[in-house]
Amino acid sequence: MFTHICKGCGLQLSDTDTHCPECNMAVPQKEELDPLTEWENEYSKVRFHWIISVVLFWTTAGITAGLFLIHGQAYINELAFIAAVFMALGVYLKTKVLALQRKKPEK
Ligand SMILES: [Zn+2]
Repeated sequence: MFTHICKGCGLQLSDTDTHCPECNMAVPQKEELDPLTEWENEYSKVRFHWIISVVLFWTTAGITAGLFLIHGQAYINELAFIAAVFMALGVYLKTKVLALQRKKPEK
């Protein structure tokens, strides 16, 4: 699941490596299995996706409003549909963010 990168030389290591074959630096094993670290990785990933969907929603909503002012009804249906999809995605990801917040492991 995790890709280890050697802190010494930046080489990609396999999950089974305990030492880097290039520079022989020890690979930290325990850190990757820490549930809090795993949770933080997952949380920041989901939160990032949520922020992207919110930004895309407002971008689409802004374009929809802008085109409405310029062209009237022309592109409204398609763009409003795309905006609705991003909004649904945003709501879905927000519930995932909230669910993850409740599941935060104790140190
Ligand atoms: Zn190395």
